[in-house]
Amino acid sequence: MASPISLHWFRQDLRLSDNPSLQAAIADGQTLAVYILDDENAGEDRMGAASRVWLHHSLTALNADLDGKLCILRGDAKTVLADLCAALDIKSVHWNRCYEPWRIARDKEIKEQLKAAGLSVTSHNASLLWEPWDVAKDDGTPYKVFTPYYRRGCAAATAPRFPLAQPDLSQVTSHAASLPIAALALLPSHGWDQAMMTGWPVGEAGAQTRFQAFLQDGLQGYKDGRNFPSLPNVSRLSPHLHWGEISPHQIWHATRDQFAGDGLSGDADNFLSEIGWREFSYSLLYHNPGLRRVNLQSKFDAFPWEDNATALRAWQQGKTGYPIVDAAMRQLYQTGYMHNRLRMVVGSFLVKNLRLHWHHGEAWFWDCLVDADHASNSASWQWIAGCGADAAPYFRVFNPVTQGTKFDGDGRFTRQYVPELAGMPDKYLFNPWDAPAEIRRQAGVTLGMSYPHPIVDVKLSRLAALDAFATLKQAS
Ligand code: FAD
Repeated sequence: MASPISLHWFRQDLRLSDNPSLQAAIADGQTLAVYILDDENAGEDRMGAASRVWLHHSLTALNADLDGKLCILRGDAKTVLADLCAALDIKSVHWNRCYEPWRIARDKEIKEQLKAAGLSVTSHNASLLWEPWDVAKDDGTPYKVFTPYYRRGCAAATAPRFPLAQPDLSQVTSHAASLPIAALALLPSHGWDQAMMTGWPVGEAGAQTRFQAFLQDGLQGYKDGRNFPSLPNVSRLSPHLHWGEISPHQIWHATRDQFAGDGLSGDADNFLSEIGWREFSYSLLYHNPGLRRVNLQSKFDAFPWEDNATALRAWQQGKTGYPIVDAAMRQLYQTGYMHNRLRMVVGSFLVKNLRLHWHHGEAWFWDCLVDADHASNSASWQWIAGCGADAAPYFRVFNPVTQGTKFDGDGRFTRQYVPELAGMPDKYLFNPWDAPAEIRRQAGVTLGMSYPHPIVDVKLSRLAALDAFATLKQAS
């Protein structure tokens, strides 16, 4: 390697197209493309088990797209990068910005360190349509409520830039010190991950295929269909977006292009506003770095949470005795994904009916979701628990029987994940305890044996939750 080389550091941007940092590095000349597994700096925010599995496959796909030239390293990125730059006489370093507090702190240090060593260091925006500091209220403070944030703040900010093409990869060079991806030990020793990954087209090409299929077959009807877990009207792009296999800019412009000249359909407008919720979550995280642990409404610090390991375990395992909750929790465990409607239902059940701290739910999702995202997960759990900035009011408690009947009326989703109830007629599928004994017998259901009794009474526990909430109001 005679001529100076530049370095592109892959992080949450595991794609080649619309990658501003990769493009800038290649524009500088010969480029080393590096990924560093940095658990040291992540600390308590170290990624969970399902995320690690996804990362393994995503790096594999990216490496193949780079003809095996991806340089894989592990360790404290501060020393790994400093050593690499010194060893290879690297002159310029580029990366795309991340917004997790631990990454912001680490990246700031790295930037200072490399600049002090005489390198040029540039960060770029690749994963947000609007940087958190670019959308603010008239008085300069950040928005706390989604609708004005999106409809007023984002609409007034600079329009999202157009996506970039894939750069000329002939400039990408390999490095002999690269580890094999297997050396990162991202896959579990027992093979539970294989079933989980069935049906996930990991990688940039898979993300694009999934997005095109959604534009063609799922977008029409999204506004209403997105509430029904058995309908194909959600995009399932969340892990691809989280890992940066597709950019929000690509999604934004392709969705709008589909309606060029005709004005956005209600479905497309609604879909893009969900992308807006992702942006809002990042804005909340940036302006509230403690989002993962600290209640945004401090009065919730005094909330009388229950301490019940048995109930938590039943919830995690999908054995609460509430079929829609159990189906959703099993979908999460088996596929690494849960439909948004059900994330709200199981979240409400955990924090309101079981009155367990939202931290338990956040942590379980963090470990099990392939789209586990510091910003979206924390913001959504705060929202569902009622303690967030723009939260669902605490007194809004989802009834799991009504939710099941309304959003999985034909029971297709519930029967798939709770097969022991497959023989129950629709009328009693979501409340098998109300069925006459003869109907349960015909369906092969014995409560307490083949399927659990409900672990809590939803009506009484709802009232208890409201009482607990009332103590907060008195205290505040
Ligand atoms: P679509 O309906 O197709 O939406 C398109 C994209 O918009 C999604 O891929 C996602 O990037 C974004 N989006 C949609 N809804 C939301 C939302 N409410 N908040 C933020 N972004 C949104 N999303 C994550 O990406 N990671 C998480 O860790 C996460 N944890 C959640 C925890 C709880 C308790 C709840 C209620 C929601 C959580 N969400 C999370 C948000 C949402 O449930 C998922 O983004 C969505 O279900 C992903 O499915 P999809 O890609 O098919 O969504």
